[in-house]
Amino acid sequence: VIELRKVNKYFGTHHVLKDVSLSVRQGEVVVIIGPSGSGKSTLCRTINRLETISSGEILIEGQPMPAEGKELAQVRSRIGMVFQSFNLFLHRTILDNVTMAPMDVLHIKRKDAEEEALKLLRQVGIEDQARKVPAQLSGGQQQRAAIARALAMHPKAILFDEPTSALDPEMIQEVLDVMTSLAKSGMTMVIVTHEMNFARNVADRIIFMNDGAILEEGAPDEFFAHPKTERAREFLASFR
Ligand code: ATP
Ligand code: MG
Repeated sequence: VIELRKVNKYFGTHHVLKDVSLSVRQGEVVVIIGPSGSGKSTLCRTINRLETISSGEILIEGQPMPAEGKELAQVRSRIGMVFQSFNLFLHRTILDNVTMAPMDVLHIKRKDAEEEALKLLRQVGIEDQARKVPAQLSGGQQQRAAIARALAMHPKAILFDEPTSALDPEMIQEVLDVMTSLAKSGMTMVIVTHEMNFARNVADRIIFMNDGAILEEGAPDEFFAHPKTERAREFLASFR
């Protein structure tokens, strides 16, 4: 579904992605971990072309990512993104937040979009919050709304960039639970997280990034039990 071939990215002279190659298959859950500043967010953002790349290729469903315009918007709309800060529209209700893009981009009728939105809000456990605005919800509920909003576009894949790191501890699990059930439902997911237990449970594959490059990659049991590099060992030790 997603393929990166030798992607390089510079911010000025700062080389932040170094020959990153990665392919994510349909239904696969890839978890990206690594130290702060290693390029995890930049990698997520390049997949959706929120960042341009300096060299290399990004293919979505086998097609090169369009450079701009309507075509780019189309492809981008099929790759959901959930950020650390929920990025909801603050003056619109939760229901509006979930229905806006399907109505504007997919031209779905309001009645159908709302019906679908309520179904998705039920799926993430906040159907009763549909008529509220984001500020009336807890952080965990807002993040679940953001996930429902991503799902409403029937994405091919969803990218999550540290979706729980802005949350109070007691709200983290409810969001991880929603993500775990999404993973089980067969959704293709790329997840940046510092929640190591979750990573171990949900991932089909772990990617360990360090200093802009993929340093290790493998099955979670193997990676957590026997990290190959000293750098990964140090990183994992900092969580114990
Ligand atoms: P964290 O765990 O702290 O979120 P990260 O792995 O997501 O870190 P990135 O945010 O991708 O790291 O940043 C990678 C590098 O790129 C960092 O050195 C950062 O300072 C730099 N960087 C990120 N965004 C920009 C930008 N817009 N302009 C210049 N440099 C940037
Ligand atoms: Mg980041």
